[in-house]
Amino acid sequence: MALYAAAAAVLAGVESGQGSIKGLVYASNFQNVKQLYALVCETRRYSSVLDSVIASAGLLRAEKKLRPHLAKVQRRVSRNEDLLEVGSKPGPASQVPRFVRVNTLKTCLDDTVDYFKRQGFSYQGRAASLEDLRVLKGKHFLLDPLVPELLVFPAHTDLHEHPLYQAGHLILQDKASCLPAMLLAPLPGSHVIDACAAPGNKTSHLAALLKNQGKIFAFDLDAKRLASMATLLARAGVSCCELAEEDFLAVSPSDQRYGRVQYILLDPSCSGSGMLSRQLEEHGAPSKERLRALAGFQQRALCHALTFPSLQRLVYSTCSICQEENEDVVQKALQQSQGAFRLAPVLPSWPHRGLSTFPGAEHCLRAAPETTLTGGFFIAVFERAEGQR
Ligand code: SAM
Repeated sequence: MALYAAAAAVLAGVESGQGSIKGLVYASNFQNVKQLYALVCETRRYSSVLDSVIASAGLLRAEKKLRPHLAKVQRRVSRNEDLLEVGSKPGPASQVPRFVRVNTLKTCLDDTVDYFKRQGFSYQGRAASLEDLRVLKGKHFLLDPLVPELLVFPAHTDLHEHPLYQAGHLILQDKASCLPAMLLAPLPGSHVIDACAAPGNKTSHLAALLKNQGKIFAFDLDAKRLASMATLLARAGVSCCELAEEDFLAVSPSDQRYGRVQYILLDPSCSGSGMLSRQLEEHGAPSKERLRALAGFQQRALCHALTFPSLQRLVYSTCSICQEENEDVVQKALQQSQGAFRLAPVLPSWPHRGLSTFPGAEHCLRAAPETTLTGGFFIAVFERAEGQR
């Protein structure tokens, strides 16, 4: 009952504008935060159907003590499947498969596949197309058609308690968020900057691509996020990374320590408007002022990154779907670089491209549940133009 009461309180808070689901769940002091969050999100997802079931059943009239939100969460857990039949179809965000990156610093693909097979999962090999991912169900899993060592399980598969995840052999990471490190493709032995790094999933991916050989300079401003990043990296077996609590804008490109940096990953703070959790929570669009402030920082960080003297390749990424934080930032940075950098024409068969707001924007990648079966995402790969150093 405590779970239902806590969920009802969160729902009431969200609807009266007191905060986001995540914020209110954490503020609730309920012990099992994950369980509470899941119940609230699911109840929101079925909200309209639940309202009509409650109304038609006359539940609130019959049970006077029952508050509407409590009625909703209680109905939701007992009647989930029936409710779907009433006519609510889960949206594309809730149908995104569970992507699982095999951490090659600790294990290999074959051993991981064998482990899951021994647990009763059936392995179907490398998917031929996105359609194979879309129809994945039950205890089946596949290898992603594009990202090496990325396994795909049906949507809602929860592996947080899985021993391989707990041991750092698996990283639970959306496919779109695996693309930045994959496309940066640093060679083992090289030096890389991860400019806005915490909580560090992309850093651990970079370390795996480097085979722990070379160096990653990882910066972040947020001490708390850096602390959880240190735990994540230790669990993932990353040994080539130097973490620093530092403003990336204050990191000097002329500092000799960064003289060999040829690769930069810039995944700055953004509105998060593409995040699946946001889409499930049905957040409104970020305000114009917030977008302007975020884009201002993203712009400065990108232009700053492009001034590192040995830089050859840079990936700029956000989990935002807003043009202001994506194509507009990239276009201005290209203009400011005065021909020193250009966009690399990556993944020509990727189905979702940058908005055509400037010539060459088609080299940028976008991602969305509807088109790529991932969270909403944006990526641009910059490379130094030939003859420019
Ligand atoms: N790349 C990370 C990953 O894959 O786990 C996620 C990065 S998150 C989108 C953006 C991060 O940028 C936040 O952790 C935030 O604290 C950090 N940040 C914001 N402003 C910064 C700055 N001026 N310098 C360094 N880090 C900054």
